[in-house]
Parts: sequence; C-alpha cells; structure tokens
Amino acid sequence: MKYEIKIEKTLTPKAKPTDESKLGFGKIFTDHMFIMEYSEGEGWHNGRIVPFGPIPTHPASTVFHYGAEIFEGMKAYRAVDGTIRMFRPLENVRRLNTSAERLCLPTLDEEGCLDILNTIVELEKDWVPHSEGTSLYIRPFLYGNDPHLGVHAVKNAVFAVICSPVGAYYAQGINPVKIAIESEDVRAVRGGTGFAKCGGNYAASLRAGKRAEENGYTQVLWLDGVDRKYIEEVGAMNVMFKVNGKIITPMLSGSILPGITRKSCIELLKSWGFEVEERLFSVDELFDLAEKGELEEAWGTGTAAVVSPIGKLYYNGKEYTVSNNLIGETTQKLYDVLTALQWGKIKDEFGWSYVVCNG
Ligand SMILES: *Cc1c(COP(=O)(O)O)cnc(C)c1O
Repeated sequence: MKYEIKIEKTLTPKAKPTDESKLGFGKIFTDHMFIMEYSEGEGWHNGRIVPFGPIPTHPASTVFHYGAEIFEGMKAYRAVDGTIRMFRPLENVRRLNTSAERLCLPTLDEEGCLDILNTIVELEKDWVPHSEGTSLYIRPFLYGNDPHLGVHAVKNAVFAVICSPVGAYYAQGINPVKIAIESEDVRAVRGGTGFAKCGGNYAASLRAGKRAEENGYTQVLWLDGVDRKYIEEVGAMNVMFKVNGKIITPMLSGSILPGITRKSCIELLKSWGFEVEERLFSVDELFDLAEKGELEEAWGTGTAAVVSPIGKLYYNGKEYTVSNNLIGETTQKLYDVLTALQWGKIKDEFGWSYVVCNG
C-alpha cells in the first residue's frame, strides 16, 4: 500500500557543494524533506515533500518530554553504471517498525515506506555526490507528537525523512581506531530499548563517549548492563572478532542493535567458508585470547563507516594492540566487497543492491 505524496518543490534551490572532499557527515542538507502525520483514527495522512526547513512543533509535544523518537540511517550511492542505489532498504524499513513497536509509536506500511524513500531519493538524485566513497545519507525519523503532558502511548506522531550528502568516512582510506571499553556507564539492558534505534539510547551513551574522547579514544565499547562483562557493541557499530581463523560476534540478546551491516558481514563471511559464532563473549575471554596471541582481528560494522578496523583496545588501565594496529586481511576484504556491492562494482549474488532510478 502506497501513501499519497504531494510534492511542493522549492523555488530557491541551493547550490550543490563543489568541493566534495569537505562534505563531512550530516552538516548540509538537500533542498527537500518528506513529512507525514499520524493520528489515531485517521492513521497516516498528509504525506508530502516540501522545501527543507524547520518543523513547527507544540512545546508540550511528547518528543520533547518523554523521548518518543526512533530513526534509521541508510545511504544512496551513485553506482558505477550511473544508477542511484540503496543497500537492503527493506531491512531498514522493517527495523524502523520494530523500533516503533517497542516505543508504542505507529508503524508504517513496508511498501509505502519504501515508496517514500524512493520518491525522496529520486527527487534529490542530483544531490548524490560523485566522488569515490561519497554518498547521500538518508535519515528517516519518527516521533510522538501529542500536544499535552500526560504520559501514555501516543495518539499523534510524525514521520519525516531528511537527506544529507556525506563524504567518504575515512578521508585517507580505512584506518584502525582506538576503542575504550566502558566499565561504568551502560548503554542498554535486556528488556530495555537496546535493540531499537531510538534517540534515547544515544542520549544515554554521550557521557561515556565524551570521556573516551577526552582520553584519546575514538569510541566506546559497551559491556552488558547486568553482568558488566559481556561485549555488546561499539558506539554506533556492531563488533566482530577474528580468533584462530573463526569469527566471534555478540549474539543479538535484546540489548544490541541488529545492524544491517552486521547481518551482511555474517552472510558474506559464511559464504566465504568462515565459521561465525554468535554468542555471549566476555571481555575476560577476549583478553585471554589476546594474551595467548589468538586474537587476529577486531572491527566494527555500521552504515556510516561500513567496516572500521580496531587497532587498540583499552580496558581497566591497560591497552592492547590488535593486529599490530594494522588493517587485518578479513577486515579489509569485508570492506572491499561490501563497498563494491554498494557501488555496483561487482555482481550482486545476494540481491542486496536496490536500484532507485537512473542518476
Ligand atoms: C545503527 C546502529 C548500528 C549499525 O547498524 P547498521 O544497520 O549496520 O547501520 C549499530 N549500533 C547502533 C547502536 C546503531 O544505532
């Protein structure tokens, strides 16, 4: 079922960025945005693409007071054959609905949501940058918008999509990052909202992230909120380890975000004949293996960076170096193959690459 989408084009289009090496991440936005309202009884209605700009919101709106907000993060790529593509977009639509369900926000029709994404990306296709490694980041978000302070499941909501041309995540190619294992704050607990992509998870993670940065680390590796010993994920990425030739990654326990890059890496690794263990993996086991010299590689996975090698791991006063602070062979292969699939450089046997339109 498709939603009706009215299109009001801007009368004052902005100049596209000329120096694509300075795009950065999420700093500039395209000319238009999608917006649609939900109310109990009426359902989703008034879907429209309008000039990009502020969204007037009632000061008592649920989103300001009780954090009823979820989002997605995905990209459109200018493929080598000239088409504009997305990567497994239906997975994002489904995860958005899983997140909505957890926060008592209204869900979207899958086909309808995919059509919205197609429509806005096609309209903004000239904003998809051309240089190697650049893409159009797509940020769908959905929030509760009841205009009163009572606490309950919302009756009014807004779904919107904004788009931002983004640079290559690593200007100098992929480079190993330094990660601090967090032993004080936790990001999420089982039964909580860890598996939902919601703003609140990020709000709760900022303090540890700031501390790590002050100490010279790029991101935080989270431990589970109950035993404080099982590895969960890294910042806004899932995490994988190569140990004695096999791959270990934390299982989806309810407090971990089910990444689409994670899922794609697991499917690729298995297709290459790797054994992949999705299980509880404690920080003690990790460092035992590291001390025995059996930890071969570690990397994070996520849409923004695709695959991010981990070169240093800090925990309780000690710093461990992984794969001599170099990019491991499997990390590099995952990065190369995933990006080649996204940009249509190799045959896509998985059916992951999704053509939106001609560029
Ligand atoms: C979005 C996100 C990820 C990565 O998910 P992808 O679908 O691979 O982009 C991992 N962890 C957290 C907390 C996230 O928000």
